Amino acid sequence: MSKNIAVIRGDGIGPEIVGEALKVLDKVAELYGHTFNYIDVDMGGCAIDKYGDPLPEGELKKCVESDSVLLGAVGGDKWNDVPGYMRPEKGLLRLRAGMGVYSNNRPAKIWKQLSDASPLKKSIVDECIDFIIVRELIGGIYFGEHKTEGDTAIDILKYSESEIERIGRIGFETAQKRNKKLCSVEKSNVLDSSRLWKKVMHKLKEDYPDVEFSDMLVDNCAMQIVKNPSQFDVIVTENMFGDILSDEASMITGSIGMIPSSSLGASSCGLYEPIHGSAPDIAGKDIANPIGTILSAAMMLRFSFDMAEEADAIEKAVSAYLDAGYRTSDIMSEGMTQVGCKKCGELIVSYLEK
Ligand code: NAD
Repeated sequence: MSKNIAVIRGDGIGPEIVGEALKVLDKVAELYGHTFNYIDVDMGGCAIDKYGDPLPEGELKKCVESDSVLLGAVGGDKWNDVPGYMRPEKGLLRLRAGMGVYSNNRPAKIWKQLSDASPLKKSIVDECIDFIIVRELIGGIYFGEHKTEGDTAIDILKYSESEIERIGRIGFETAQKRNKKLCSVEKSNVLDSSRLWKKVMHKLKEDYPDVEFSDMLVDNCAMQIVKNPSQFDVIVTENMFGDILSDEASMITGSIGMIPSSSLGASSCGLYEPIHGSAPDIAGKDIANPIGTILSAAMMLRFSFDMAEEADAIEKAVSAYLDAGYRTSDIMSEGMTQVGCKKCGELIVSYLEK
């Protein structure tokens, strides 16, 4: 099979981690007889430096016309003082909206080899922690109007029934493919948009009688994720709550560097990226953990290219690498062998087999 992959290396550690994911994809192509064509796309701070725009139209077009997009991360202190509409993260929001990827899927799973790296008590980690946060990605407060008037700043949070319904259905369908439990998270005791969210979700649940449905307020959910994370199978929530909860969920698994994500809309062309940012504090030092990006590439194969066997092979190679005791510094523990970003990628490639 031949696929065109738009590759956004971005800023900070972006180029380092994406480089390792491409090595893994190249090995998959070799083992399974596929051709992956990489189309370089500039986005973020590097695009501001080059074009004065975090995502010029031509770069967005390359993404929309590709079979899928692999992204490292964007942003950094260098661009902190540029006006809001020009910030590197604006490129990311424009990319998500331009691709119409409204459903962001972020797994939170503790790898058995990394149970020591979780900050949670052993008794909690020993329960099976394996859930997914389905986050609405192109609506809500991040996409509402933002303005500052004198000493007052305003951000608008808005959701329509149809926006809630389409992500709600993804939540139910994701639960159907897993352990059939869905928890809808909102703040309906305070926000009108959340009361609408709850009303739509309750209407939808009639269509999915096989799914055990529950509601939870977002502040309680933040507590439950650290107190009793094994209660969750699938969480569905709006954009900002999902952003915050998924970072919290990633931390209980050991490191933000381990977690991949997929973002999909109506077509099979998806956006795949690790959930962390550009980590300027460790950029250029060859110490970043590339596994979140490598597993994002595996998700791309599984969800956009229908290559489940190839995706399984990548996940098995990551597991074999961890079994062999290799760790980047973010997940390093006693008795393990510390490796850098490049070495981590090379080792995972060496464990890849058909
Ligand atoms: P961050 O996720 O970049 O870093 C948080 C902490 O986690 C840092 O200590 C970092 O060193 C560590 N970390 C992150 N990824 C790691 C990895 N792969 N391996 C090892 N350690 C890792 O968050 P931040 O510091 O708040 O943000 C830095 C920049 O990234 C900001 O400009 C922010 O706006 C941007 N950002 C971009 C994205 C994106 O591109 N999707 C997402 C979040 C933040």
